[in-house]
Order: sequence, then structure tokens, then C-alpha cells
Amino acid sequence: MNLGAPELVFLVGFVVYVAIRGVYKERTKRNAIIVRRFDGLEIALLALVLPGSLILPLLYLFTPWLNFANYSLPTAAAWCGYLLMPAALWLFWRSHHDLDRNWSQTLELREDHQLITRGVYRTIRHPMYASIFLWSLAQGLLLRNCVAGWSALITFIPLYLVRTPREERMMIEAFGDDYRAYVQRTGRLLPHLVNQPPKPTRRKND
Ligand code: SAH
Repeated sequence: MNLGAPELVFLVGFVVYVAIRGVYKERTKRNAIIVRRFDGLEIALLALVLPGSLILPLLYLFTPWLNFANYSLPTAAAWCGYLLMPAALWLFWRSHHDLDRNWSQTLELREDHQLITRGVYRTIRHPMYASIFLWSLAQGLLLRNCVAGWSALITFIPLYLVRTPREERMMIEAFGDDYRAYVQRTGRLLPHLVNQPPKPTRRKND
């Protein structure tokens, strides 16, 4: 067992993280799905994320199997982790809260799906993915094992890079110009630093 103070903080955060997911899975399960893009690529990417964010950290915490990769980290790393973890959890909860019944774990649209542009979605399009990046960084700073620590970050990057453009295409197909306009005024993971001037709309005879 590897359960020092940083690992215990990680474990508490992990329980909260799983609980938030559980609550919103339960809340959305009765909302009918009308579009589903759960193909082989999506399954492969999720199958990569599962060990990175769930299995490897638990193996490190509760078995000696990953001890060959244990290393020491400066105390400052743990303190950065202590600060990042609540920020990640808050953003994770808040993005579920703002999406509410429109949330899905994968690429799906629900009956009467609404485009959410309020709350944490007002300035960025992917606050939930931003929270998962923050979470993955906190995991790396708290777990003193170079495999289990950074596995969430390494496995989430391909999912993010592949899924985001697919998700945005799905949203454009569903919401058309409303989503295109939303893309113009928001950043992916960070807000635009300066207000973007609206792109001129082309008329047919221009
Ligand atoms: N990419 C977003 C949402 C992740 S959950 C984020 O990081 O915060 C994935 C699902 O959320 C998608 O299948 C899509 O149905 C839904 N979704 C994404 N952005 C949305 C928005 N602005 N409004 C409503 N639903 C959205």
C-alpha cells in the first residue's frame, strides 16, 4: 500500500470524482438518446483512458505491483496537487451541473437536447475536458509513481484530440449556425483573452 498524505488526498478526491459521475449518470439515464456516435474509435480511446485514470492509480495505491516505478517528488509538487484537485473537482461538478440533462459520457445527443452556453460554458466549449486535464495534472503531482501518476494525462490527450473535433462536428450538425457562432465567441479549454470580432457573414452574390 502506498498511502502517504498526497495519496490520501488523491483518494478522497477520487471518491468525490466518481460520486459526481455516478449522480449525473443516474440523473440522465432516463433521457432518451437520439444520436449516438459510439464507434470503434471511441471505444478504443475510452478503453485507453480507463486504466490510466482508474486501474493504474488503484493498483499503485493498494498493491505493490507498480512499486518499481515509485519515485520521490518535491513537497511543492504535492502542494500544487492539493490546490489543483479542488479546482478540478469544482469545474468537473460545475460542468455536469450546467449541462444537466444534456450530459453524456460519450458522443450522444438526447431528446430535446439544448445547446448550453451559460455558466462555465459561456466562455469555453469544453470545461469538462479542462477539468479532466486539471484532474490528471493533480494525479501526477500527488501520486509518487511515474506510471500511475501520469497515466491519466497520457491516456486522456489522445481522447481529447480525437473526440473534440468529432464532438464539435456533431454539435454543428445539430445546432448549425448557433453552434458556429458559439465557437466564434468561445475558446476550447481557455477563454479568448481578447474579444474576437465577429467574422463577416458572406452573402450569396459577394
Ligand atoms: N465537451 C464538453 C462536454 C463533454 S460531455 C465539455 O468538455 O464540457 C459530452 C457530451 O456533451 C456530448 O456528447 C454532447 O452531447 C454534449 N455537449 C457538449 N457541449 C455541449 C453544449 N455546449 N451544450 C449541450 N450539450 C453539449
